[in-house]
Amino acid sequence: MSNNLFSQSTGANLFSEKPTTRISLSSLKSQNNTANNKANNAANNTVATPQTGAHLENAIIIGSGPAGYTAAIYLARAGYRPLLLTGELEPGGQLVNTTEIENFPGFPDGIEGPDLMERMKAQAVRFGTRLEAKDVASVASHATEKTVTTSDGSAYRAKAVIITTGSHYNKLGVPGEAEYSGHGVSYCATCDGFFFKGRPIVVVGGGDSALTEALYLARFGSSVTIIHRRGEFRASKVLVDRAAAEKNIEFVMNATVQEVLGDGTSATGVVLHHTDTDSTSTLDASGIFVAIGSSPNTEFLAGSPILDDRGFITVDGASTRTSVPGVFAAGDVVDDTYRQAISAAGMGCRAALDAQAWLEK
Ligand code: NAP
Repeated sequence: MSNNLFSQSTGANLFSEKPTTRISLSSLKSQNNTANNKANNAANNTVATPQTGAHLENAIIIGSGPAGYTAAIYLARAGYRPLLLTGELEPGGQLVNTTEIENFPGFPDGIEGPDLMERMKAQAVRFGTRLEAKDVASVASHATEKTVTTSDGSAYRAKAVIITTGSHYNKLGVPGEAEYSGHGVSYCATCDGFFFKGRPIVVVGGGDSALTEALYLARFGSSVTIIHRRGEFRASKVLVDRAAAEKNIEFVMNATVQEVLGDGTSATGVVLHHTDTDSTSTLDASGIFVAIGSSPNTEFLAGSPILDDRGFITVDGASTRTSVPGVFAAGDVVDDTYRQAISAAGMGCRAALDAQAWLEK
């Protein structure tokens, strides 16, 4: 009863008409704890059968970022008393690691990321959301309900599941990067570009994100230097041409960042390795924007047809419906283009309304 429907060897079909469809979902640790996820996956690659004794929830929301809390606020306010599984280690998603947020509407003086998440949580709880700090190990979809199993072996029953497990920015993994993260090193130009007005900036990466971020940052920085590890850009030509036409954008090709330098408080520059000449150099910079792609927190869904080839969850058009009836997804786990707290929150709202329509069927 616990065969894995995603195994390549069996080739079993998630969408079969069988009464029980198993989505061997997660070992959802925190929003960006992939190593632990993998370890727990291995340990928890079994799927619980419906626990007939357990209370049947209306909806379980997995993940506690802006999408998850917003879905919870809407469902709770509509009287569904959702259960939100926050993850054990670091509830609140990526924003708990962010300092000041100046572009979330309603906060004209800005708000600290952790403070914003606490407020969202309080609002969700106020209307009756129940929170549990648990890591999800698997989700199964049966004919009329879902089973969410957590890594401690508890099984929860629900009519609907909303997945809002977010994504994490890929890291360079070089010395100084973690130390100066939030103190010069950033992964979001829209969030942090303003803080580097009139100062030198570097952008690392050669895809559309790197070029888009560089173009955005050019309005703030005294200079913006794009550092790319190859001699050709992955980014679309129109973006490269646009960047080349900007007076204060420069390119350093065939170079990798070896280290982020700092003065103990803030980042001050990067050490570059020039792969074509096998030499190194130092570049001064106050802002170091890393734009080398992002990865969704969906390792637990490996092999599932609700994922695209990069691991993001696919939804039906502008809705939040996945191809598994009663399973919805919202936020960065779906969207790798906008990746903003406000856009995730908006999608969380849509997920709640989609789930509500499902519950009222
Ligand atoms: P991406 O297309 O995967 O590009 C990542 C870039 O980072 C690549 O140039 C890659 O180099 C480089 N990179 C990866 N790992 C690296 C490392 N460890 N050190 C140094 N460089 C590294 O990711 P993305 O730019 O975030 O774009 C993701 C998707 O969103 C794409 O489909 C993109 O088209 C879309 N997007 C579109 C827009 C827009 O249309 N305006 C804006 C943003 C994103 P290599 O090239 O050598 O592999």
